[in-house]
Amino acid sequence: MKASAFSYARATSVANAIELLAEHGERAKVLSGGQSLMPAMNLRLLAPELIVDIGSLDELRGVARREGLLSIGALTRHVDLQNDPDIATDAPLLREAIAHVAHPAIRNRGTIGGSLAHADPASELPACMIALNATIVVRGPKGERRIPAEDFFVGIYETLLSAQELLVTVEVPLLPPNSAHYFCEFARRQGDYAIVGLAAQAVVANHHLIDLRPVFFGLSDRPVRAQAAVQLVNTDITPGALSEVLQALGDELDPPEDQQANSAMRRHYAKVLLARCVAAFLSRPELSTGEVA
Ligand SMILES: Cc1cc2nc3c(=O)[nH]c(=O)nc-3n(C[C@H](O)[C@H](O)[C@H](O)COP(=O)(O)OP(=O)(O)OC[C@H]3O[C@@H](n4cnc5c(N)ncnc54)[C@H](O)[C@@H]3O)c2cc1C
Repeated sequence: MKASAFSYARATSVANAIELLAEHGERAKVLSGGQSLMPAMNLRLLAPELIVDIGSLDELRGVARREGLLSIGALTRHVDLQNDPDIATDAPLLREAIAHVAHPAIRNRGTIGGSLAHADPASELPACMIALNATIVVRGPKGERRIPAEDFFVGIYETLLSAQELLVTVEVPLLPPNSAHYFCEFARRQGDYAIVGLAAQAVVANHHLIDLRPVFFGLSDRPVRAQAAVQLVNTDITPGALSEVLQALGDELDPPEDQQANSAMRRHYAKVLLARCVAAFLSRPELSTGEVA
């Protein structure tokens, strides 16, 4: 199928893009890498009257380190993140996660802003942003808004971004000392969207988890920060205690069912992932087995 007819505007600046979005509202769509927008238009799931192409706005591209954070421009492509030295040292979770996003051809064009604005619930980057405690910066006719990643995703392909706003930057705080990360996903094939995945960031000291931010994807209409995991912080973790937390995690989750997995299977995967994550953070392989109900 082909997309329905649309008009095309190449934005000349961020201000110009916002003007166009303000004028056309819901009838316009931003084009970044086009890796999700173009397939959706060709399938006629979306039929915008105007495409606002921001692809030549270089001010939205690249990673900069400043004042305790990494500032990542919305047009930074997946492949740029994968190769960036600051991402490798200061946000290694992102680097590891991006290797699971689709395939090289898609990572060569897809952008962080597009991925976050698209808000696919099985996507890796939204979950990473919550695990990393990132802030998403959006700009519109009324000025700039800074939205914690934890609040940004509100449903399937739904965020707090309005039709008049542009996602401009993502701010990722630099990691505290003794930080560790964990990333794992179950997918049918390498590069497929996850059936269930887990992105987690932690601070580990003296064999304890001083801080823990585990965020699941593919388990709900948006990324899910596991509340049950709070009980694992600042405590001695025995196999029995972990088993209780996994039970509480299962009670907390209400996973969807589709052609790839039913609800019970997704719940089971989530427990396996959390157990493996804790075992990896504490370097205690015995915790990764056995006690998953
Ligand atoms: C075969 C295939 C497999 C894929 N597998 C995965 C996968 O495993 N994991 C994964 O996470 N993704 C996957 N993707 C999606 C891919 O990562 C996309 O690149 C990404 O979702 C969107 O980035 P983009 O820059 O291409 O955005 P676009 O396609 O240009 O835009 C996506 C949406 O976001 C909006 N948008 C884009 N940029 C902005 C902005 N700056 N401000 C406001 N709104 C904006 C657009 O209007 C559109 O609605 C896959 C895609 C394909 C085609």
